Amino acid sequence: MIKRSFFGLVKPKLHYEVIDEAPAEPVSITGVKQTKLFIAQSPGQAGEEMLKVGDPVKAGQKITLAPDAKAYATAAAGGQIAEISDFIGLLGKKYTMVTIDGSAGGDPGEDDAFKALSQSPSLENAAAYLAGLPGKPDFTPFFDKEKKVKAIVVCGADRDLLTTTNQYFVRNNIIAIKTGIDLLCRITGISNAILVVPQHLEQVAGSSGAIVKTVDSEYPSAHPELIMQHLLAADEGKSAAAGIAFFSAEAVCAIGAAYSTGKLPMEKIITVITKDGNQRLVSAPIGTPLQSILSEFGETLNEGDRVIFGGPMTGVSVFRTDHPVTPDTDAIIVQDAGDVMERTDTACTNCGECIRVCPVNIQVNMLIRLLEAGEYETAADQYDLFSCIECGLCTYVCESRIPVFQHIKLAKHTLESMKAAEETNA
Ligand code: SF4
Ligand code: SF4
Repeated sequence: MIKRSFFGLVKPKLHYEVIDEAPAEPVSITGVKQTKLFIAQSPGQAGEEMLKVGDPVKAGQKITLAPDAKAYATAAAGGQIAEISDFIGLLGKKYTMVTIDGSAGGDPGEDDAFKALSQSPSLENAAAYLAGLPGKPDFTPFFDKEKKVKAIVVCGADRDLLTTTNQYFVRNNIIAIKTGIDLLCRITGISNAILVVPQHLEQVAGSSGAIVKTVDSEYPSAHPELIMQHLLAADEGKSAAAGIAFFSAEAVCAIGAAYSTGKLPMEKIITVITKDGNQRLVSAPIGTPLQSILSEFGETLNEGDRVIFGGPMTGVSVFRTDHPVTPDTDAIIVQDAGDVMERTDTACTNCGECIRVCPVNIQVNMLIRLLEAGEYETAADQYDLFSCIECGLCTYVCESRIPVFQHIKLAKHTLESMKAAEETNA
């Protein structure tokens, strides 16, 4: 899959995984007793406001931390709340983690709040109930008064390497994708729907009724920012900033199924790669703890092993075996300690590899000097920090093994937090 360049004169090429034939049915993870949900906290908010240990939870129930809170999670399975705890996520983002024990307190049944609304689909009830579905559909662009959405782009190509979730849906569920696209067009009033797929799936994608565009197999061509820049802007004369709402093929299938059945589909399709390199598609309820998936494959974790949620280029390490599958967990990769490449604090040698691979032409070698010195504002002003699309290629090629991509994410997050704090104070 990986082709290295000759003497560093041309870019190293990384290619996406390709599903050529109908893939085997995913391995189902069943009998999960406890599921865990993350609910984002607002500043100053904690999880104890509305929720209590022992409260019953119905399957499909929407759970919020406060009556007026926008953030919510959806319970894949019913039971009783067994634990409520704080969880600090990536870059310090605060969540409340709610553990639901399906073996306690009898069966509380299914929540039917969405069922009644499903008879009259609307953008409002989609945003209020469907944001926790597999693929994590994001309806917020439709509520942005300053940037009108003109096109819906459904991504049937997977964003990171080794992951095959969206290809699986295009290959196996194109009619469900069509249903979801028709539904989205209906509730948004937007008729311009585009399905983006890898070249080998162009023919099957034709049955979706949407305009079909293809991306090539070289990473990171399926990144939403590059899709906008290279396909849409070039073909239709739109600027990359034109209003586009992105959905994954998995999310669109889930939206269609929710309105067709009145039930919220909560099974997530994940590519799981174990330490021996075996790769399988897995279907697991959202909230399934990592341990339940590892047990299915007889995988054990030893000192120094690493587990990554997400693809190899942009995924993040997780550090507890009860870390749950979330609506956007497309891959879980388990690495043996011997295969983990440690990052270093070796100085940049100015080899230029990062500049050669950067798809948005950032002078990464200069940027990293400023980031390592904590000069984030200068990095943003002089070296296009915010143009970075976070593809991770610079980290992958860096011969000094500098975690460039991680420095970039931290810098962006720090500047955005400072800006938000200034606006709040103002
Ligand atoms: S992570 Fe950002 S800086 Fe690094 S190669 Fe990708 S776009 Fe360029
Ligand atoms: S940051 Fe890494 S890849 Fe980029 S010039 Fe320096 S040593 Fe080379």
